[in-house]
Order: sequence, then structure tokens, then C-alpha cells
Amino acid sequence: MSRAVFLDRDGTLIRDVHYLKDPNDVEIINGVGEALRIIKRMGYLIFLHTNQSGIARGYYDWSDVHSCNERMLQEFGLSADFFDDVCIAPESPDQVIQYRKPSILFQQEMIVKFKLEPSNCWMIGDKWIDPQTGLDAGMKGGLVRTGKVVDSELEKMAKANNVELFPDLLEFVKQQLVEI
Ligand SMILES: [Mg+2]
Repeated sequence: MSRAVFLDRDGTLIRDVHYLKDPNDVEIINGVGEALRIIKRMGYLIFLHTNQSGIARGYYDWSDVHSCNERMLQEFGLSADFFDDVCIAPESPDQVIQYRKPSILFQQEMIVKFKLEPSNCWMIGDKWIDPQTGLDAGMKGGLVRTGKVVDSELEKMAKANNVELFPDLLEFVKQQLVEI
């Protein structure tokens, strides 16, 4: 059975720019490139799962999101096919939801496609919906402090749900991932 790390994008891999549209506004977070390389080297599959309601709202389109993702990988010095799969959820909260976190549809699909053992998988991000998505899919969840402010209420919620907090993605990798 395979292991995997599911990753949020904004506030986790790159700085959270409100409705990011222009690739020139992509700003990578320190240490994330190294973290991504270590995750892959350790034998974990890596998936990107990002909510992009700006598509449904008409603020930008799919090609803008793809361009920003490409720029992000370039900035990390990683190939365009680095992620094993990418889920861009275009829905706004008031629409019928298919992939928008905390929907676990993407996780369920990857579990089947890659024969993942959910208990050996993680979902990491800067908002509660990220670990929540992981937990709901039978995975482990982690919060990083590189995006949305993790306040005391969120800290309490994390503690109550066995969700670990990490200063950044690299620290998560160092503390939690083990060689296969
Ligand atoms: Mg985020």
C-alpha cells in the first residue's frame, strides 16, 4: 500500500495572495522546495489540492491557475510533472460542491487509483479545512503556520482532533515523515 502527502497550495507552498491570478505574484515559502524533494525522496506520493473559487467567481480562469502552478514549480526548481496528481477545485461555496475542500472526493479517488493506505497519508495546509479534509478521509492532518493566522481557537480545535501544528512544511517533514 502506498503512502502520500496531500498539500494545500496558498499559505502552505506559496504566500497566500488574495485571488492569485498573475504568476509574477507567486512568492514561494522558504524551505518548501527542500521539503518537497525530501517527501518525494522518502517514497511518498505527492498531491496538490487547492480551492480556487476565483474560477467560479470569474476573477480568473483555469489557465491563470495553471500558469501560477507552473511558475511555482519553476521557482522551486522542480519539473512541471512533479505532483503525482493535482486537484484544482473551482467551485464557490454556494455552488454544488464536487472537489472543494473539505470535500474528500479527490482523496477518495486517489486512494483507489494509487492504492493508498489512508492511515499512512497526510493532508497539510494552513486552514482548518485542510486537516479536516484529511481526517474525514481517514488520513492524518497537519496545520502549518505559514499562511492564515493560527489563533488560540484553532489551536484548541487542532489539539482536540489530534491535528499537529508545524512552523512550516519543512518542519512537518522533519518531525513526522519516516523512511519507507
Ligand atoms: Mg491555504
